[in-house]
Amino acid sequence: MQIKIYRGTHQIGGCVTEIKTATARIIIDMGEELPSSNHAEQKPLEIDGVTKGTPDCNAVLITHYHGDHVGMFEKVLPHIPIYMGKVAKQIYAVVQNTLKTKLNKGNPQRIQNFNEYVVSKPLYFCDIKVTPYTIDHSAFDAYMLLIEADGKRILHTGDFRMHDARGGKMLAVFEKYCKNIDVLITEGTMLSRTNEQVFTEHELGLKAEELLRENKYVFALCSSTNIDTIAEFYNAALKTDKPFIVCEKDFQEEILKVVTQNAESQFYNFNRRKIYSYGKNLHTFMTEKGFFFLGRANYTTQKAIKAFPNSLLIYSMWSGYLDKAQPAFDEYKSNFINNALNCGCQMVNLHTSGHASVDEIKKVCETTEAKTIIPIHSESPEIIKELGISGEIRILNDGDVFVI
Ligand SMILES: [Zn+2]
Ligand SMILES: [Zn+2]
Repeated sequence: MQIKIYRGTHQIGGCVTEIKTATARIIIDMGEELPSSNHAEQKPLEIDGVTKGTPDCNAVLITHYHGDHVGMFEKVLPHIPIYMGKVAKQIYAVVQNTLKTKLNKGNPQRIQNFNEYVVSKPLYFCDIKVTPYTIDHSAFDAYMLLIEADGKRILHTGDFRMHDARGGKMLAVFEKYCKNIDVLITEGTMLSRTNEQVFTEHELGLKAEELLRENKYVFALCSSTNIDTIAEFYNAALKTDKPFIVCEKDFQEEILKVVTQNAESQFYNFNRRKIYSYGKNLHTFMTEKGFFFLGRANYTTQKAIKAFPNSLLIYSMWSGYLDKAQPAFDEYKSNFINNALNCGCQMVNLHTSGHASVDEIKKVCETTEAKTIIPIHSESPEIIKELGISGEIRILNDGDVFVI
């Protein structure tokens, strides 16, 4: 069996991994490079039999809906089946629908044809068996994949963390289903971000509740698909009796509707209280009642901030987007924040990482008893060698073939 990481050995995002036997070939993730990645290639990635030429691939398996894992799906040749989680697929369809309507980009039609994982139910591609397991990440309904072929076991973690509510259960899943691993392909985002403090979504929720009690008018900037954080905000707004307001009716409300329809716990039920979409008609209501406003770095949120200057602004995204020294520095977001500060807003950072801490990575390496570990999705994969992990560490370059 062969493993080939086409991209993602030395960068965060753009992930494409291939696993191949004598009779089958699968691809895990078809990600776009993050816009300002240091390693951004000039030419888009082309793979024979997958993105060009005659189809020669049994399946493309997407771990989750973040663009750096699925963004290149349109490049996959027709007739090659693509797999994704059921709820993830619906959320991603909303994102693609909005892209189509607003920018005439995206391909919601193709997403309708994606196949769906059933948790713990194996998929067979000739002699390759793939079992998907739910994993905790800042994307909802994300998966890790256990691949078995030629008498060997490979675990591809996708992006993951273990510090959310579901994260606590992750170790039990590794213990039960993912031991005795020959090759662990693990994400290593935090290997280069060791100074970041990791706290749980629940702690974030408690802090949000405190801030909502102390401040009448609260804005928050958060990814529209970071469902766990949004659910914490929604629950904090419920507890403090603050109207929950979104800036874009169709987009954000649609996403939360998908989650509610599939919710197994009340925590993800966004029907418990009305969600308002921002408009001038709400001004008096908002002035009197106070509010929690789930915004984006866009014109509508900017307008609302101008109407309610001197509010509190919760920044619930990675701090690196606002740091000029970081390759992922986002000038647009940075300007948005500066404008809000000029309006008299006070900003607090309240964000928890979607990625495994260094300790969590180590724990997974040990629990799975991985004989070989290949870090991906990291700007400094070699740091994993300093963790004292007993398995053999293999640092690959993009395009290297690793035979097991
Ligand atoms: Zn990622
Ligand atoms: Zn991700």
